[in-house]
Amino acid sequence: MAGTNSASSSSPSALLPTFARLDIGFERGEGAWLFDTKGDRYLDFGSGIAVNALGHAHPHLVAALKAQAEKLWHTSNLYQIPDGERLAQRLVEHSFADTVFFTNSGAEALECAIKMARKYHAASGHPEKFRIVTFEGAFHGRTLATLAAGGQQKYLEGFGPKVDGFDQVPFADHEAIEKAITPETAAILIEPIQGEGGVRVVPTQCLRGLRALCDQHGLLLIFDEVQCGMGRTGHLFAHQRSGVTPDIMALAKGIGGGFPMGACLATREAGKGMTAGSHGTTFGGNPLAMAVGNAVMDVMLAPGFLDHVSAMALLFKQKLAALKDRHPRVIAEIRGEGLLMGIKTAIPNTELTAALLKGKMLAVGAGDNVVRLLPPLIIDESLIDEAIRRLDAAAMRLEHERGLSGAGSTA
Ligand SMILES: *Cc1c(COP(=O)(O)O)cnc(C)c1O
Repeated sequence: MAGTNSASSSSPSALLPTFARLDIGFERGEGAWLFDTKGDRYLDFGSGIAVNALGHAHPHLVAALKAQAEKLWHTSNLYQIPDGERLAQRLVEHSFADTVFFTNSGAEALECAIKMARKYHAASGHPEKFRIVTFEGAFHGRTLATLAAGGQQKYLEGFGPKVDGFDQVPFADHEAIEKAITPETAAILIEPIQGEGGVRVVPTQCLRGLRALCDQHGLLLIFDEVQCGMGRTGHLFAHQRSGVTPDIMALAKGIGGGFPMGACLATREAGKGMTAGSHGTTFGGNPLAMAVGNAVMDVMLAPGFLDHVSAMALLFKQKLAALKDRHPRVIAEIRGEGLLMGIKTAIPNTELTAALLKGKMLAVGAGDNVVRLLPPLIIDESLIDEAIRRLDAAAMRLEHERGLSGAGSTA
């Protein structure tokens, strides 16, 4: 019988069941829209978890991938990769960094950052400094080391001893951070905006405090901008609003616009221990990835692009605030920055994502009972209005189902 490889209810999937997948599959995308195998159209405010930063099938990205596909896919890092040199140069020109290592994923970018921080101290004559201070609610990936850095018990359970070298402190608790610093501490690692943890924005004051602590104790400051970076906040990198710069930064998700890639950026000083042979990757920075990465940069660095993101973000935030006023029984709080927004729900967050799905809109759950809204950065005002309409309808449906009335119903 044909088609037995599909995950229909009668035949079990051949995929390792690590994901609780919804029963929808998409076959085509265009901008902020996705079309499923039945032809239904969905408004995509999840962007494949902040990955499709320029929406689906962006013509410039498609053209770059096609052109590169006909020339050269992979050569390995045994040889020069001119497009990689160019992309690294562009990232350096627009950031604090002097040097870039390309990876295939966020976790690998973090692994590079962690190894680099340890090696920096070893190269400085302090191999005993290897521990990294991290924060509750953090998410840094699913490798053994990045899981230990994230410190979430539910993800560590059953996988043997936790990788040593990570000391977790409460979110934005300056005193606890200071206490956690010992002669063995190498670095502080933080997401300027926690994504998976529930769209929790680290206040500028706090980032400044971390920079000061690092300078005072000779530690490296590492920012995980895998989710909040690459234009999502209206700045190319989320920390740029604060004026605080890290020594090392991990990027991924939006950097490839859907092509799997990541990067670890660093100052020359922080990267000083990473000499030839000290780290590597087979696929990282290959010609296909670099062609698409440069195409993403072409769009994001074009005059007006980041201003457009900021303008749309402001509009979206205002309309979300009004939505919250209309539905206080469903929406407890609006949080976030730029186009990385979170709705903290007054009901289980899964009920709102399910109601949105019924209304053919995609959003992504997060910790702290939050629903993440991560639209592609190319959205316009009419798509924001469409999203607000669908959010409104979903909130109303939930109020009806639960016998709640919206406070704004008589206004
Ligand atoms: C997604 C994410 C990662 C891990 O990225 P992968 O590509 O899944 O390995 C790391 N840090 C943050 C902040 C993320 O959002």
